[in-house]
Amino acid sequence: MTYLGAHLSSAGGFYRMGKTALHIGANTFQCFVRNPRGARAKAADPADLGKLRELLEKNAFGPIVAHAPYIMNPCSRDEGIRALAERMMGEDLALMEHLPGNYYNFHPGSHVGQGVEAGCRFIAGMLDRVVRPDQATTVLLETMAGKGSEIGGRFEELRMILDMAACREKLGVCLDTCHVSDAGYDIAGDLDGVLAEFDRVIGLSRLKAVHINDSMNPLGAKKDRHARIGEGTLGTEAIVRCITHPALRDLPFLLETPTDDAGHGEEIALLRRMADFKVSFR
Ligand code: FE
Ligand code: FE
Ligand code: ZN
Repeated sequence: MTYLGAHLSSAGGFYRMGKTALHIGANTFQCFVRNPRGARAKAADPADLGKLRELLEKNAFGPIVAHAPYIMNPCSRDEGIRALAERMMGEDLALMEHLPGNYYNFHPGSHVGQGVEAGCRFIAGMLDRVVRPDQATTVLLETMAGKGSEIGGRFEELRMILDMAACREKLGVCLDTCHVSDAGYDIAGDLDGVLAEFDRVIGLSRLKAVHINDSMNPLGAKKDRHARIGEGTLGTEAIVRCITHPALRDLPFLLETPTDDAGHGEEIALLRRMADFKVSFR
């Protein structure tokens, strides 16, 4: 069973998101657990979270992914911004304990001139303070496009964070198809080669989730502009190769394409059809 879903709006609460996911033919989803551009956390509603848990179980969902807010920069040169990132991640991880066995994904951040190593040290330090050895959530580092001083555009940078963090048992990686292509990894033209490189540098066992986005920009553009499936430089076939690849096919695949719930539903239906076709003719 392929786990396919999309990033959903968290307006209306957690159970509501589960219903939306079912409505668009998804069996996983991604969401923010707080305002994505603000720092304020919503109070956890255990009843709402419990109802979602039941829905996920009853409908055999794959793992879901909570996405950290975009304003989070755990490797900022500003101590206040780093402290805010740490507080937000701590609160989000506490909330995620109501949804055990799922993922919390974040952007490693931008080191803004301090250098990759100093940035990775800040990130690993934060993780070691907020990740608890007994927590039920795996924290995912997202592969980035390498825009500006963004950390995570090279697999080696994620590896450095994993090497520096004592809590690495609780850490994994989320691969974003648009980001890796923009970073210069030819995922559309040479999926096997990119996965071999991922395995060599990070280890495929660390890969826990995939963001499936087409890209508005060519290989290596370092831009990070997502396109709808089939409307970008990767192409629909490349995305289907990802979701049917033996090394990836059991992972949750999340769309972050620029469209609404109905549009995501259409993309999910298209990808399911194409993936089933591809698998039955292999
Ligand atoms: Fe992201
Ligand atoms: Fe992403
Ligand atoms: Zn992106």
